[in-house]
Amino acid sequence: MRKSIVAIVGRPNVGKSTIFNRLVGERISIVEDTPGVTRDRIYAQAEWLTTTFNLIDTGGIELGDEPLLVQMREQAAVAIQEADVIIFMVNGREGITAADEEVAKILFKSNKPVVLGVNKVDNPEMREEIYEFYTLGFGEPYPISGTHGLGLGDLLDKVVSHFPLEEEQEHDEDTIYFSLIGRPNVGKSSLVNALLQQERVIVSNIAGTTRDAIDTPFTKDDQDFVIIDTAGMRKRGKIYESTEKYSILRALKAIERSDVVLTLIDAETGIIEQDKKIAGYAHQAGKAVVIVVNKWDTVDSDEKAMKEFEEKIRAHFQFLDYAPIVFLSATTKKRTHTLIPQVLKASENHSKRVETNVLNDVIMDAIATNPTTTLKGKKLKILYATQVSVKPPSFAVFVNDPELLHFSYQRFLENRIREAFGFEGTPIKIFARRRN
Ligand code: GDP
Ligand code: GDP
Repeated sequence: MRKSIVAIVGRPNVGKSTIFNRLVGERISIVEDTPGVTRDRIYAQAEWLTTTFNLIDTGGIELGDEPLLVQMREQAAVAIQEADVIIFMVNGREGITAADEEVAKILFKSNKPVVLGVNKVDNPEMREEIYEFYTLGFGEPYPISGTHGLGLGDLLDKVVSHFPLEEEQEHDEDTIYFSLIGRPNVGKSSLVNALLQQERVIVSNIAGTTRDAIDTPFTKDDQDFVIIDTAGMRKRGKIYESTEKYSILRALKAIERSDVVLTLIDAETGIIEQDKKIAGYAHQAGKAVVIVVNKWDTVDSDEKAMKEFEEKIRAHFQFLDYAPIVFLSATTKKRTHTLIPQVLKASENHSKRVETNVLNDVIMDAIATNPTTTLKGKKLKILYATQVSVKPPSFAVFVNDPELLHFSYQRFLENRIREAFGFEGTPIKIFARRRN
């Protein structure tokens, strides 16, 4: 099921990023622990009670030197276009400003559900002073305090009550959903076209059904696939769409719905920092990943060049050491036939389950060859392991004390599991759980 999207809109300094961090804080810090990966704090998952949703801080979308009003209009436009529900934030200590009224006007015309959060209401006495905000026209104002974490429950109850019911199309378990990500001009649209023109690809005529993406279903060798549209594939030419953060936002939404993410690199220009950042998002989301080196026609494409390029990729994308690399050319279509088999394999591994007894044999063998470590006089004891979920494959390792399972030993276990079961193309997760 598609997760609902909530966007926070409001002028600078009302406390948008404070609230954003409060709602997603823990997840963000987990994500930042991944080596080589940076994270923009504009899009993240948040939870309220039993509901998980995606949250956008539109304040993080900056538009260079544009004047404040232009920025706010564009941010409101992003919220209206992307979100199911909008949190309009104002500052309870400053009252209504002209900029608030301007944003209110845009949001009002959108017909999207808007929940009004009045921030910086740090103590109960101040709650009496927020009634002027009724005049903005969005019903009851919700007093909140980002710094003290007050009032967020009531605000979120209201937000969640506006979420669309689950009538959206289901994610078909037998279909492989994939997306292509990469910076502008790496050849995403060219590659989509090349894939769809391949032999024995049958493109379904059913037009895209989702509201916010153009999905292309096709069948090859009796396997159903859906290509999810990503940033840059449709060019609409507004200012914000050319900003890097906006294209990342679109890519993140596509990644979210994918089983497999193809991360594209341009062989002609080589690897740049932005490529790493974009690829990092796919890894963080726990999706299967295939690295595609496009425009392979522009370099001397012998074995040696391929080997050298591969080494460069491995050095730059250490966090994607599990991802296969495919070299191809979208324009000459050379080697494009090698891609779909890799997508298929990565997808199979992403949802692979291993048997508990075989898994435990592997773990016990691993411990025998490389005994567990001791920390502060306490020795790590591994009792048993079991696979708890798929997409990505995740393993719980039951131990005497989770703190004793070092990152390096975890990494060692991961490598052994990979050697034994072959999880090429997919990240795997290992959690330590206490069991006495
Ligand atoms: P943004 O520009 O809308 O993202 O605003 P920030 O989250 O960066 O917050 C702007 C300033 O307001 C910061 O100095 C925050 O510490 C402060 N702030 C945020 N929330 C509250 C709050 O609930 N009460 C008070 N007193 N200050 C807050
Ligand atoms: P997107 O912005 O990632 O969707 O990139 P496009 O598909 O629009 O391609 C950007 C440019 O790169 C276009 O001029 C393409 O013709 C060119 N291009 C795409 N794939 C290849 C390729 O395999 N080889 C060469 N030489 N050029 C390519």
